[in-house]
Amino acid sequence: MSGSSPLRRKLSVLGSTGSVGCSTLDLMDQAEKAGTGAFEVEALTGGRNVARLAEQARRWKPRVAVIAEPGLLNDLREALSGTGIEVAAGDAAVVEAATRPTELVMAAIVGAAGLRSTWAAAGTGATLALANKESLVCCGPRLIARVAAAKGRLIPVDSEHSAIFQVFPADAPERVARLILTASGGPFRKTSLADMARMTPEQAVAHPRWSMGAKISVDSATLANKGLETIEAAYLFDMPAEKIAVVVHPESIIHSMVEYVDGSTLAQMGPPDMRTPIACALSWPDRLSWPAPRLDLAALGALTFEAPDFERFPALNLARQALIAGGDAPTVFNAANEVGAYAFLDRRLGFLNIAAVVAETLERAMAEGVMSGSDDACEAALAVDARARRIAGTIVAQRAFAA
Ligand code: NAD
Ligand code: MG
Repeated sequence: MSGSSPLRRKLSVLGSTGSVGCSTLDLMDQAEKAGTGAFEVEALTGGRNVARLAEQARRWKPRVAVIAEPGLLNDLREALSGTGIEVAAGDAAVVEAATRPTELVMAAIVGAAGLRSTWAAAGTGATLALANKESLVCCGPRLIARVAAAKGRLIPVDSEHSAIFQVFPADAPERVARLILTASGGPFRKTSLADMARMTPEQAVAHPRWSMGAKISVDSATLANKGLETIEAAYLFDMPAEKIAVVVHPESIIHSMVEYVDGSTLAQMGPPDMRTPIACALSWPDRLSWPAPRLDLAALGALTFEAPDFERFPALNLARQALIAGGDAPTVFNAANEVGAYAFLDRRLGFLNIAAVVAETLERAMAEGVMSGSDDACEAALAVDARARRIAGTIVAQRAFAA
């Protein structure tokens, strides 16, 4: 060890029981054991997994542990009895936990369900370590402005945006010619369209490189994830759609790149392990030392690249169109994609119909015109989200497998 003092952080983790949440706590645990990090936890929140939340709470002793499902409050209270940890349940309690004073909030709830708590955390002035990509897609520049107005800082956790963030010239963005997002290509990179039509949820969530939650795994299989990430990149780095490219890179070693106007391209590399971008978000502008998995490029031998196939993965272009259309379109894209992805996970919809539902929902919603008049950007986005979900729900019902 270098002998330098450990990184100290007081933080809350929203969605601590999920994939990113668990990776965050695991990283913190490893850094504490290595003597390089010392963490104080204000709040932990989970959706429904009381056992895991209670185990995490016993380890980290947060001031409050919150379970989103209201019916599980008693279970949580029982599981944490005698610990002195405050317990709460319900959506409002998750939002309240997000606003508690702390240095950093890891926003790692999945889907539009994370909108209100992410929005709340953004208004506190704490550093917002943002994994919940859906809130950025839905609230976009208004979320970024809210963080800035509260004198906070937004640090992306998504590996692609973490990569760009690390090599982007924030003080001279005019030096950037293009952002190049890398995509693993997902489990169906080489699957024919005819076979894709028959793919099951089990096949879709078996990602070749990354271990992630179910919804984002489906998004990686449809490439809707790279579509969401294109929108995220446009907002985070204030780049127009035409300056954001996607290249398929199956090894997932280069996490994304910034091409400068002089033809030089800077890339960030690392093993496909979310703990590395999470470490970056927790410690920025410092660097957290922890027993990280290291790259062995000689063992890897080769890094390969190919162009994305827009025909087999139409979600990519649909997201780009939604970004260009602006207004409510990205929120509609996100809502329809969530409805489609969960219907597929529930076996009510075929894999290829996920993107079909997104396309049809966007078409119908845009034809109906502006969807929300609320002045509050978060509530406005939620109103659009609800309406788009209703439209998408009817389309899913029409396209659903016969019972
Ligand atoms: P996950 O499904 O593994 O975990 C989601 C978390 O949110 C869990 O703690 C769950 O209990 C909680 N949750 C779910 N519904 C909730 C609700 N209605 N109210 C409150 N809490 C709720 O998801 P994940 O893979 O960890 O992804 C989290 C976010 O990070 C997503 O937005 C995802 O797109 C993004 N992300 C994930 C990865 C990854 O490697 N997993 C990478 C980049 C970005
Ligand atoms: Mg990503």
